[in-house]
Amino acid sequence: STPLLEVKNLQTAFSINDSWHNAVDDVSFQVGRKRIVGVVGESGCGKSVLSLSVIGLLPKVNSQIRSGSVLFKGKNLTHLSEDEMNDVRGKDISMIFQEPMTSLNPVLTIGYQLQEVLFNHMNISKAEAREKSIALLKSVGISRSEKLVDEYPHQLSGGMRQRVMIAMAVACQPKLLIADEPTTALDVTVQAQILELLKEIQESNDMSIIMITHDLGVVAEMCDEVIVMYGGKIVEHTDVDTLFYAPKHPYTKALLHSIPRMEDDVEVLNTIKGIVPSLVNMPRTGCRFVNRCPHAMEDCSSVTPVLRQDSQGHDVACLLYKNSYPSKGVKTS
Ligand code: SF4
Ligand code: MG
Repeated sequence: STPLLEVKNLQTAFSINDSWHNAVDDVSFQVGRKRIVGVVGESGCGKSVLSLSVIGLLPKVNSQIRSGSVLFKGKNLTHLSEDEMNDVRGKDISMIFQEPMTSLNPVLTIGYQLQEVLFNHMNISKAEAREKSIALLKSVGISRSEKLVDEYPHQLSGGMRQRVMIAMAVACQPKLLIADEPTTALDVTVQAQILELLKEIQESNDMSIIMITHDLGVVAEMCDEVIVMYGGKIVEHTDVDTLFYAPKHPYTKALLHSIPRMEDDVEVLNTIKGIVPSLVNMPRTGCRFVNRCPHAMEDCSSVTPVLRQDSQGHDVACLLYKNSYPSKGVKTS
């Protein structure tokens, strides 16, 4: 059957000093129904650009999808007009972000903003919308929702604001939720509660989630499968158990080794030597991880590894696996 989401050979570029640079480069993957798919990688690996490409929220002034397709239930979203895409957003696909304060309007009440979402996609009266807003806030664990509808975002804690954002995102029961670092700004206890809430909603709404995160703890807790991105490309894609117990790509292995202990107050992943190449310095040929890879070989600077699937359905793009040489094997996409 048609997958819920199928991204095929997606290439999204940013214009920097009058030339185009691919922030997402030839990315292909599917999201099945009721699946939670993690997308991991350091900042600058293309995770957020990928999600903005899927939901059609790329900044128009300096970025564009240059090729490939984003099929939602078989329909190519990259061909839709702005109006058509507005219909899709909220109703079919929603997104939540790291810092809810930036997505909530500070001068409008919570109830007003929630009702706006409902009016966008449903033909209901003001009274019905108010009632539905209160019920939605209850459903995301806000007990005093009758009062909260008349409050402003700054009157709420960070965790409460994220609950409100989740209520807005799932108000019309979309089948796909994209969550970009949804708990990164929250303290650990609240983080766990929000993840639990997302899981509950995912199950009760038969929803799929693309969970963008740099936190492998979140991945272990939430995800069915994981996509690892590096330098705008998918370097590995497999189920969550295989990722933790039998990773193949040297970058994935490095990520797993860099999980900080609880007491370390360090930014996750900073312990991998070197940095992600910037868009303008991205190598045109060869493996993008070559400068940081402990296993780099001569071919790695000249041959671009291709993402290919092994017999277990495990995708990897690394020349340590003969399949990833461009001339061999069957391409994953
Ligand atoms: Fe390392 Fe080469 Fe594999 Fe890239 S292709 S991850 S440089 S071994
Ligand atoms: Mg990001």
